[in-house]
Amino acid sequence: MARFNKVSAELLDELKKVLGEKGVTVDPEKLQTYQTDEEGNPYWFRTPEVVVFPKTTEEVAAVIKLANKYLVPITPRAAGSGVACGAIPVYHGIVMELDKMDKILKIDEDNLYAVVQTGVRTSVIQQECKQRGLLYAGDPCSADSCQIGGNVATNAGGNKAVKYGTTRNQIYGMKIVTPTGDIVDVGARLQKCSTGYCLEQLICGSEGTLGVVTEITLKLRPLPPYKFDLVAIFDEDAKAFALPNKILKAGIEPTSIEYMDNKALKMCSNFCKVTLPHVEENCCYVIITVESFDEDELDKKMEKISDLCDDMGAVDVIQADDRIWGCRRQFAEAARDIDIMFVAEDFVVPLDKIAEITAEVPGLEEKHGIYTVTSAHIGDGNIHVLPLNKDGLSPEDWMKKMAGFHKDLFEKVYALGGKMSGEHGIGYKKLVDFKRCTPPGEYKMIRAIKKALDPNDILNPAKIVDLEDSI
Ligand SMILES: Cc1cc2nc3c(=O)[nH]c(=O)nc-3n(C[C@H](O)[C@H](O)[C@H](O)COP(=O)(O)OP(=O)(O)OC[C@H]3O[C@@H](n4cnc5c(N)ncnc54)[C@H](O)[C@@H]3O)c2cc1C
Repeated sequence: MARFNKVSAELLDELKKVLGEKGVTVDPEKLQTYQTDEEGNPYWFRTPEVVVFPKTTEEVAAVIKLANKYLVPITPRAAGSGVACGAIPVYHGIVMELDKMDKILKIDEDNLYAVVQTGVRTSVIQQECKQRGLLYAGDPCSADSCQIGGNVATNAGGNKAVKYGTTRNQIYGMKIVTPTGDIVDVGARLQKCSTGYCLEQLICGSEGTLGVVTEITLKLRPLPPYKFDLVAIFDEDAKAFALPNKILKAGIEPTSIEYMDNKALKMCSNFCKVTLPHVEENCCYVIITVESFDEDELDKKMEKISDLCDDMGAVDVIQADDRIWGCRRQFAEAARDIDIMFVAEDFVVPLDKIAEITAEVPGLEEKHGIYTVTSAHIGDGNIHVLPLNKDGLSPEDWMKKMAGFHKDLFEKVYALGGKMSGEHGIGYKKLVDFKRCTPPGEYKMIRAIKKALDPNDILNPAKIVDLEDSI
């Protein structure tokens, strides 16, 4: 703590000179709203001393220079939909809210790219592209609320990652402000590049620790006009988990392969007030989307997938309508409705290890006395097991229980060649687990990068690594 100063009257004056009175708030009521992101456990909450609202890259740079001058930590924040406590100001200081930088600067329909400011809502980009017959392929379930800058910072995934990859696969380049306040363009609108380090990819997924992203050049694609959505219903999880590899091996490039266990289906159908087929028979779902530019090709793929599902012992294969996709998209909200302190696990394993790792969950539930629901982007091995604090433990006790659960869970995940986060990031919440699970050589490199780019540890300290921590 001693390494940082409190926000002083002089710093506030200087911030107001840069941003104007309206660009700076110390109103205690407003500060309270920035004490957390999607996190509901007060154990993690930290209130900033000041929140600033820059409107330009130059203003971002000026604020970061001031933060360095006064040695006050600064936490970038987009929509605050993150689930890793990434936007929580651990050491208080300044929160930099980026939602005023919300313009789409360009959509080039001929050359398939867009230039957007950091604070544009992801669904707005999707819709603007769709209206032009184009696809922006980043599609987190939170698209209606999150911002593109937050997606870049977390390397957000989502339902279409199995075909199009995560956010890092959607970017050409970006404008950033470094932790020392320099404005730098990283990446370029090129199809290939072996020219030095790939800095745009380093920034992507760095969770606001290596730079503040202010502008992004995004890749666009032509929008496939045809698509189908199926749900394959299974009476055993193991059968469902074997399906993704079969589909991929058959040469069908699905856009999504999503799994929901029976507990998740019951929770979500209750929350969405819909009835879903076969749920009372304790079945699980695999939702599959395929898109195509050719209707005949699409029909053939649909037939092939139906056959594969039958071969794998599906109880039923039906069309996945809005009701079913609605339940999938509301998974996190349905969990929150039951328990505001639910934990969104996000581990990722090789496709052939999905069955093995999920088979461990009931044993862990029993050992730690917890209840979980599961959905998964099983097309890319990314599993969301959500422990729910059904017994109403206190924030501290729930935290302790989760620490024990994580120790066991991540040990198994890493033993199978997996990692603790497929799309949500490490943030503050998994800081300790990340250090414990990451091989020392890799951890040392990550720490060295942070130290080299941010000598004062000003930008989002205690996220991913905490430089205060001796290695
Ligand atoms: C209902 C729900 C569904 C979700 N579904 C998905 C999903 O399908 N896939 C998925 O990946 N995630 C999902 N999430 C998690 C979350 O929406 C993503 O992590 C998202 O990318 C966060 O964006 P945000 O704009 O809310 O960022 P914030 O939460 O505000 O910030 C996230 C992190 O990025 C940093 N940051 C923000 N903006 C910048 C910037 N401009 N420059 C540098 N750093 C910055 C912050 O410091 C923080 O560390 C879901 C969350 C909810 C609540």
